[in-house]
Amino acid sequence: PVRVRFAPSPTGLLHIGGLRTALYNYLFARRNGGTFVLRIEDTDQKRYVADAEKDILSSLKWAGLAVDEGPEVPGACGPYRQSERSDLYRRYATELVASGKAYYAFDTPEEIEAVREAEGETFRYDAIIRNKMKNSLTLPEEEVQERLRSEEPYVIRLKVPVGETIAFDDLVRGHVRFDTSEVDDQVLMKSDGLPTYHLANVVDDHEMAISHVIRGEEWLPSAPKHVLLYRALGWTPPVMAHLPLIMSPAGGKLSKRKAEEQGIMVNVCDYAEAFYEPEALINFLALLGWNPGDERELFTLDELCEVFDLARVGKSGAVFNKDKLHWFNAQYLRAKAPESLVPAARYILEKEGLGSGCDDAFIAGVIRLMAERIETISALPQAASFFFGAPDTYEEKPVKKAWKENTADLVNTYIRTIDGLSEFGAVELKAALVSVVEDAGVGMGKLMLPVRIAVTGLGGGPDLFQTMQLLGKEEVISRLRTATE
Ligand code: GLU
Repeated sequence: PVRVRFAPSPTGLLHIGGLRTALYNYLFARRNGGTFVLRIEDTDQKRYVADAEKDILSSLKWAGLAVDEGPEVPGACGPYRQSERSDLYRRYATELVASGKAYYAFDTPEEIEAVREAEGETFRYDAIIRNKMKNSLTLPEEEVQERLRSEEPYVIRLKVPVGETIAFDDLVRGHVRFDTSEVDDQVLMKSDGLPTYHLANVVDDHEMAISHVIRGEEWLPSAPKHVLLYRALGWTPPVMAHLPLIMSPAGGKLSKRKAEEQGIMVNVCDYAEAFYEPEALINFLALLGWNPGDERELFTLDELCEVFDLARVGKSGAVFNKDKLHWFNAQYLRAKAPESLVPAARYILEKEGLGSGCDDAFIAGVIRLMAERIETISALPQAASFFFGAPDTYEEKPVKKAWKENTADLVNTYIRTIDGLSEFGAVELKAALVSVVEDAGVGMGKLMLPVRIAVTGLGGGPDLFQTMQLLGKEEVISRLRTATE
């Protein structure tokens, strides 16, 4: 059976690269009737951030990626936090020493530093170095036992075999080969008694019966170490798939700094807080490294579950295109009932001091009129400010174009006409405008553009008559009067 895991380290806020990894795992599980496991890799005490796990959980929830087994969802392979599984790692590390596949190393950090200095750039704790150091391979057995008894600090290292070629087939990268001479005797168990990432990761993938490891390309260099560990433990490695890097539009890996330069947000929670549509971010991330094989772009999460395929994940880096993300967001935004967006819109507007006295129906009306003109809800305050107060300036260019000598007269006639309307609706407002221009023998634009400028301050915008209907008679007439004064 297919079992995959998302295995973040709680070292900070979940970022979009992490969410994409989670997504691909989730989709692969769903597509294959498998299980999606969340495992928290919290063995690195130094880098641990207290609220990070909470952020990971809430970000996955926001994105709609339901976990089948994890810290909050009990399963047969728990616990799902590595900090709660220390005994297991210690047992396997000790077993590896007993079977001669690993060894105790007593070198102090200073001793290692001294060798590193002597060896220079190329230093690697390998088969040659290990023979010069103090460890259970070079010391007499009695002394080893004595050192262990007296609780001298030690680490456990993997005894990497010499001169062997190891290969595996990565579902994305293809055939990967490496020589064991490129791999150092990695530490499996640190002197604080906690496992390294490599040991805990391999032990857990095995213990949790993970069938496929799907993770970012930055972990590819670790894969040889893992394969060696699987061999040492006598286990078959899971199938591996290393996902392409997410790239900056300016080139290179999208680091935090590069993202900032490009105005790209990297933390998933930032997207949630800015009220992006989670479906849009998911759709966008799905296509950041994977393609469906045709031109189709819009996929709901459920649709992705039906078509996702690791075979269509590309090798080369995928460029983060912010405009594309906004395009996706616009599609999902427009598909939503305006009423459902009211709470988000209200929150964003009120942050800018807009709309506090407006009722829900009015805000929904604004969203309905503006949805085609904004890509994110957070663009609303800027784009729709005229709904919440009369314009204090008029856009210069359209004024020049539209405001002629007879304009004020036309507008005044229009004011009188609509003042007498019993129904202040878009249809009536338009009919009134048509009648005014016909009587004056001028084209519709001669009055329509001035009215738009007077009401919104802008030369372009949403449907003018619906905008006026929403604003209401009193407000519209007051704005028209102001403009003619
Ligand atoms: N804990 C690693 C991370 O933070 C997991 C890498 C892997 O999936 O093996 O991404």
